[in-house]
Amino acid sequence: MSAPGVTPPDGPDAPAVTLRAYVDGAARVLAEAGVGSPRHDALALAAHALGRDRVDLVLPPPLPAGFGAAYAALVERRRAREPLQHIIGRTVFRWLTLHVEPGVFVPRPETETVAQPAVDEARRLRAAGRTPVVVDLCTGTGAIALAVATEVPGARVVAVDLSAAAVSLARRNAQAVGAADVRVEQADVRDPDLLADLAGTVDVVVSNPPYIPPDAVPTDPEVRDHDPDLALYGGGADGLDVPRAVVAAAARLLAPGGLLVMEHAEVQDGPARDVATATGAFTDVVTAADLSGRPRTLVARRVAPAGVGDSPA
Ligand code: GLN
Repeated sequence: MSAPGVTPPDGPDAPAVTLRAYVDGAARVLAEAGVGSPRHDALALAAHALGRDRVDLVLPPPLPAGFGAAYAALVERRRAREPLQHIIGRTVFRWLTLHVEPGVFVPRPETETVAQPAVDEARRLRAAGRTPVVVDLCTGTGAIALAVATEVPGARVVAVDLSAAAVSLARRNAQAVGAADVRVEQADVRDPDLLADLAGTVDVVVSNPPYIPPDAVPTDPEVRDHDPDLALYGGGADGLDVPRAVVAAAARLLAPGGLLVMEHAEVQDGPARDVATATGAFTDVVTAADLSGRPRTLVARRVAPAGVGDSPA
């Protein structure tokens, strides 16, 4: 901590500084640096420095020698707007704790709500005695795929990412959460042969693809400077090139009646529905809201090919 008045004394002769004083000082420094959740992050960094869970700090443990310096170094990184998740090396997504590392997109809380319709659909099919096949495109850390795999035992889950770093991290996360049977593949969603072995057989395609338009560079340094561009920018003037490829892949992969669930930006709800409708492959094309009520998720159902399901004349 470099701000005057918040660098607590350290070393063997220093007077005891309470954990609360350290955390209060760090929270002030982080607030001044524009961090959105300064106290939360100050506590999370203290827990990380102590090798404990945040809840264990309710009864503060004794502070080991060197804690002040170690904590100050962590707080300084966060003050410089390095993502908290990169510093502590993990994040929480739904029920899971996932490894996170620089070079791979940090899963966001809003994407937890994108996973929900996929989980619900897989659970419904499982309850009906089926083995649901769920494909997560642009999986990153594996967050959505692993949420489905762990929340719906018996589902067959496939995760795809273009980035080699993401694929290896998703595999590591699959092992870590006990979902080692999730198939993780390195592939491009724009490839017309993507997962050709599954064409027409998938029950759910779910995706949080890159979708930011080129003129909407994020203002948060944590995002702009630390999330990979590959995972942020969707390509094309509207940012929807990769989302269009996801919808096209879903049209190929889904079985009749299969569900497409895809995250997009708030301003893209109409365009995203248009993309799905224009393929002619989907019905019940709707937009679901995120937790703050913003239209952020395309949901659509694969139509049966003409004639299938029609009652005989
Ligand atoms: N939601 C991301 C962000 O917050 C945008 C890209 C994405 O999620 N695919 O910046």
